[in-house]
This record gives sequence, structure tokens and C-alpha cells, in this order.
Amino acid sequence: MAITLAAEEREQMLSAARAAFKNAHAPYSNFRVGSAVLTEHGTLYSGCNVENASFGLTVCAERNAIFAAVAAEGSGMRIRAIAVATERDGPCAPCGACRQVIFEFGPGALVLFRGRSGTVRRWRSSVFAPWSFGWHQRTVPNNGHPLARRNAGE
Ligand SMILES: [Zn+2]
Repeated sequence: MAITLAAEEREQMLSAARAAFKNAHAPYSNFRVGSAVLTEHGTLYSGCNVENASFGLTVCAERNAIFAAVAAEGSGMRIRAIAVATERDGPCAPCGACRQVIFEFGPGALVLFRGRSGTVRRWRSSVFAPWSFGWHQRTVPNNGHPLARRNAGE
């Protein structure tokens, strides 16, 4: 069944993402990004990008929000929707690494993103990350992990 969001939920998510980018640590790129994740439990978690002088250690807003959700709800956390906002014009779509992480916890999640203003873009994570690597490709036993069971359609 396709995930849908009420207009109020969508605005709440985008507002949380906008609030989050104000806390970004982006002294190197000056590109502040915020994200908000809505889990299946109905809880909203936010994150911002955190850069580092050693550029490779930078973590995007989307992954920080998702990891906060996992820290709070456990590894069975499931993403219903994720929003991404920036202070610049034009929408900011999640990068490839974030798309893979979004897919891990929400293969059918709704992905919303936009810039400072303008149209809200909406996609499904399965469209964003087609043929993503996932639990179904693992060759080691999954030990009955809830994500493996759900992704297998159980
Ligand atoms: Zn990213």
C-alpha cells in the first residue's frame, strides 16, 4: 500500500527540516541542510549536516536524522517519510549514500525535498534507489531481524 501524508504532516516535516538546517555545522561548504524523518510509530526525528575539517568524515542531514531515529527506536525502526530542506533556492535531493540508507529503513518511504521556497518534490525511495543493495541480497543468515522479515514481505 502506498504511503501517503496529510498536508499537515507534510508541512510539519518540512518545518522540522527547515528548523534543523539552522543547527548545521557547515563552515566549509556553507551549504546547510536539514532533514526530518517520520517513523511508522509516528515520531519525528530531525538531523542536520555536520562537516569536518577532514572532509570525508562529513555526515549528511538525512543520515543524521535516520541514525537518531534508530538510536531512539532500535534497529527495527521503519521510515514512513523523510523530508529534506535547504536555505538555498532549488530542491536538494538526497545524495547516493543517503538514498541507500533511506532504502534500508524505508524501501517504500516517501521522500520530500525542496529549497528555500518553491515546489515540494515527492518521490518514493524505491524510485530514488532502484536495484538497491538490501537484506534480500545478503547471503548470511539474518537471525530473524525484523527488517529482513519485512523486506521479505513477511
Ligand atoms: Zn547524503
